[in-house]
Amino acid sequence: MREHREHAPLSRRDFLGRTSAAVVGGGAAIGALSAGAKAMAEAAQLDKTAVVKRRLGRTDFQMSHIAAAWDWSEFLLPDAVALGINYLHKINWLPHVPPPLAKLDRAAWYCDATIDTFDEQGILDQFENALKALGLEYIDAMKLHSIYSSVEDVKTRTGVFKAFETLKKQGKVRHLATAQHGKDAAAICVACIESGSFDHIQPAMSVVMTPEQLNLLEVARKHDVGVITKKTLHAAAMVKREADGLNQQQRQRREELRQALEPNLGAETKIGAAVIKTMLKLPGVTAVTPLTQNYEQLNDNLANGGLQLARREETLVETIKAACADMCVYCGECHHACPQGIPISNVLRYAAYNTLYAEPRRAKAQYAQLPAAHRVSACQDCGGCEKACPLQVPVRAKLRHAHSLLA
Ligand code: SF4
Ligand code: SF4
Repeated sequence: MREHREHAPLSRRDFLGRTSAAVVGGGAAIGALSAGAKAMAEAAQLDKTAVVKRRLGRTDFQMSHIAAAWDWSEFLLPDAVALGINYLHKINWLPHVPPPLAKLDRAAWYCDATIDTFDEQGILDQFENALKALGLEYIDAMKLHSIYSSVEDVKTRTGVFKAFETLKKQGKVRHLATAQHGKDAAAICVACIESGSFDHIQPAMSVVMTPEQLNLLEVARKHDVGVITKKTLHAAAMVKREADGLNQQQRQRREELRQALEPNLGAETKIGAAVIKTMLKLPGVTAVTPLTQNYEQLNDNLANGGLQLARREETLVETIKAACADMCVYCGECHHACPQGIPISNVLRYAAYNTLYAEPRRAKAQYAQLPAAHRVSACQDCGGCEKACPLQVPVRAKLRHAHSLLA
């Protein structure tokens, strides 16, 4: 877990005040409790409908509609867990099990650990290391970390399935999952689902979707495979972030967007919650992993009052969709068109890490790992990517901007 106090404009007190639908008059009793118990007691008074449990496909686990992640700030976890958030993704990216989860009955929460190799022994080693480091008897899901490059890989890379079966027989894992982004992401996810081996998947997906992504949701629903979407709040975050690093035209567009959204915003109409509820209305989507680094973001993402979309929230999302119609959704459909092999969606994702996540070091380090021949500087300006993009994203301009941020 990380410390992101520099991004915590909303204090815990503000958070509790704003999140609670009806804070009861129990201040004296709460005051007598220890700090940890007090936090739990305060959170217990929060609106219970702020977090909703949903069945994660055929795993049958009742997961919170929001999944926490390894990069959530540590100070958010006690409140998040007390509210009912019970899924932690990429647990093996942490040095230990977060204490608020460790205190719970093990069956009450769910985690996945990522695997980044196809090699059977390598997978066994990675998984055993994670179990040992975390002191866990089992990890709920072994999640392939976007390692497939093609649909064919799903059929031929059988070491994954052998290692998973070994670990499952030993009681060290229960489910197989994959997160996938980049080239052919939707087709690869469909192949994973149709293989019958995967219990849940984690694609990048937001309110602006490609036909392939919509088809993926339909296939997942038919096979009862859970879908936890990632990168879902990029559009929303784009509206809210300060305009650092943007050029004049981009600043102006951001300002226009803010002005268009303003009339629909209010205490009960929040951008994050509206986007999340919209995603969760789609048949097939179980939950989202939203960007959450401070109380302001946590509060924005919580769906106080349940998942029913209010009219103003629908209007809010329509405005975001219209404003972000040219936003990259990391579908990877354009990768085939690039003669230079530039991993376009990955480069644009790194730019988002830089700007939206305010993680320039991580973004630059990932971009630096690309071979020089596949960086934006190798672009021939042929325009093939823009013809291939189903969403009319101005790819070249976005790539140039990404390069200026990351190089
Ligand atoms: S314009 Fe550049 S990034 Fe786009 S397909 Fe051509 S070479 Fe690739
Ligand atoms: S630029 Fe278009 S085709 Fe390429 S990843 Fe983004 S949304 Fe998909």
